[in-house]
Amino acid sequence: MTRYSIRLLCGGSLASLILVSACGAQPVKARENRTITFSMAEWMAGEPPKGEVAAIEPEVDGGNAALSATLWMQTSAEYRAMVRQTFGSAERRLRDALNDRRWTAAPREQGANYEALPPAVILDVDETLLDNSPYQARLIKDRASFAPESFASWCQEQKATAMPGAERFAQSAVDLKIAVFYVTNRPKSLEATTRAQLAALGFPLDEETDTILTRGEDPQWASGKSTRRAHIARTHRILMVIGDDLGDFIDDHKVPAAQRRSLAEGHDDLWGARWILLPNPAYGPWEGAVLSFDGALGEADRVKIKMGALRDGRGATSAPTPPPPPLEVAP
Ligand SMILES: [Mg+2]
Repeated sequence: MTRYSIRLLCGGSLASLILVSACGAQPVKARENRTITFSMAEWMAGEPPKGEVAAIEPEVDGGNAALSATLWMQTSAEYRAMVRQTFGSAERRLRDALNDRRWTAAPREQGANYEALPPAVILDVDETLLDNSPYQARLIKDRASFAPESFASWCQEQKATAMPGAERFAQSAVDLKIAVFYVTNRPKSLEATTRAQLAALGFPLDEETDTILTRGEDPQWASGKSTRRAHIARTHRILMVIGDDLGDFIDDHKVPAAQRRSLAEGHDDLWGARWILLPNPAYGPWEGAVLSFDGALGEADRVKIKMGALRDGRGATSAPTPPPPPLEVAP
């Protein structure tokens, strides 16, 4: 339920009311000990009870910011169908990718004579292969924010489930003799538990080669994933990259939101065949981009900035999206 703080002008006096629910007829308690009942539908239809709505502000509530997104990921048929269809579509393209020797999903990292290299796919882990939504749910219920310690505890519980279609995709790749690499921004300290979790869920792991490439495992492996792609590209032709975050594909993505959209649009030739993207409305740099990546913001300011970033089609027209940057393709 979305909680709103609304102000009503009643008989010339300003009263702050709390709207308890977003649906159905609900009692609304005024801080002046008056109760008015009305429905969100009535209110949205422009029929506020006795008075004039002067302002609407979301209640400062960190949990609710991610509530609908996490609920959608956990309960909707649409999200699960979308993930399944994405992996199914990727699986059907594997043979094309395999048979076309010029095909690569890493045009920047792939070196000379990559055509002769054995094939590989690169998979992100969190919200690509593993569903960590219970961790998000805990944050919401506990009114807590992401913290590395709590996330590490969640990982060590090994309660994440596999995303629908993910394990089948990975197994299909192995059946076609395509190596599967897991490139994750989980830290090295979580590699062993991640390996155990992936193995338990049936994801293929190479007994001889380390195919789980964690952040910081090598001094060159920062959160940007291009150095890890380059590492794989030295020995393999990378057929596909699958992830839920622009950062799974492009390093310099921590830029303003319009620029991120422009970056994505600049790679339209890769999306859907070589770069496979899954939705993640619960968290990610897309949100940080709106907030100028300012981690020090309080919840009230975060909500205020997000409200300011919403386009409602009224007032000044927003600036057009800048043109996409030219794609650099390695020879
Ligand atoms: Mg991810």
